[in-house]
Amino acid sequence: MRYTVSDETKAFWEGLRRHKLLAPRCKRCGEIFFPPRSHCPSCLSREKDWTELSGEGTLYSWTEVRIGGEPFVLGVVELAEGVGRMISKIDAKPEELSIGMKLKVAYEDVADDLTLFVWRPTQKFK
Ligand SMILES: [Zn+2]
Repeated sequence: MRYTVSDETKAFWEGLRRHKLLAPRCKRCGEIFFPPRSHCPSCLSREKDWTELSGEGTLYSWTEVRIGGEPFVLGVVELAEGVGRMISKIDAKPEELSIGMKLKVAYEDVADDLTLFVWRPTQKFK
């Protein structure tokens, strides 16, 4: 998986390094949105700052991905704040997952200057 850092997402990646999940918040109308983008989706303002999210979410859908090595689960996570969805790696096996289950973000420091994140179920699938 390839990650690119642009001006739009720089603050997001810096937040990860401090183990915080950040989302842009419009300075004009207060809208919080995800993923980061240049304009507020509500009022189109470019003025924004950043706010910390709870790091909690709900599994909206998922798929098992095989790229060469070990298969992994890629999920669509509905953020708890209702501000959007993100596509992320899920640290669980397919048989442990069910749509709508609660997830919590977990951080992985993979290098001095790079922290990635995964989502883990907070409950066991019954
Ligand atoms: Zn706005």
